[in-house]
Amino acid sequence: MITVKSFVFNDFQTNTYILSNEQHQCMIIDCACQNATEWQQLKGWLNENQLTPLHALLTHCHVDHVLGCHYLLDEYGIGYQTHPASKIFIELASEFSSVLGLKLEKFPPPQSYIYEGDCIQMEGLTLKVIYTPGHADGSVCYHSENEKIMFSGDVLFKDSIGRSDLPTGNYEKLRKSIIEKLFVLPDDTVVYPGHGPFTTIGHERKNNPFV
Ligand SMILES: [Zn+2]
Ligand SMILES: [Zn+2]
Repeated sequence: MITVKSFVFNDFQTNTYILSNEQHQCMIIDCACQNATEWQQLKGWLNENQLTPLHALLTHCHVDHVLGCHYLLDEYGIGYQTHPASKIFIELASEFSSVLGLKLEKFPPPQSYIYEGDCIQMEGLTLKVIYTPGHADGSVCYHSENEKIMFSGDVLFKDSIGRSDLPTGNYEKLRKSIIEKLFVLPDDTVVYPGHGPFTTIGHERKNNPFV
């Protein structure tokens, strides 16, 4: 059985997800904790549940999603994985963070790159990478067919979609990503977005006013 725990971190209310299995291993999606208080919250949960982080995955490299990456590297020795098209956001992370008023202490380079169709695995869970540009270059979603869960980053939200007016954003691309890559998944797939509450593919296909 896979457990999905979520935290809401930093001034942008970004969701960080911890996916754990019965062997006490876990993957962390969008490690967004921004300060010592939030690092302690994350660490507390990992300790309490005796979890060992195996993978740190990013849905994209907007600053509000990456604030805790250096903490994971320093504390647990795991670097993050992201799509290579995120490069511009990695190179300009400190500029973007000052524009947004967020304090990014450091942003190390990625441990490795992931590509469309790649499978990220731990015992009991396989996450498949879906490339979904339009909100930001390098945006990916992570889908588990068996668990019927999908992590959509800032591409798809409950009754909304991501912004397309930021650098590398493009509304038509975003719409295409959602329709062709996400709305083809089964209706009962639970969608965990980068901000706000979870939803399902079925609900969004019927009700999302922006697609
Ligand atoms: Zn974003
Ligand atoms: Zn975001």
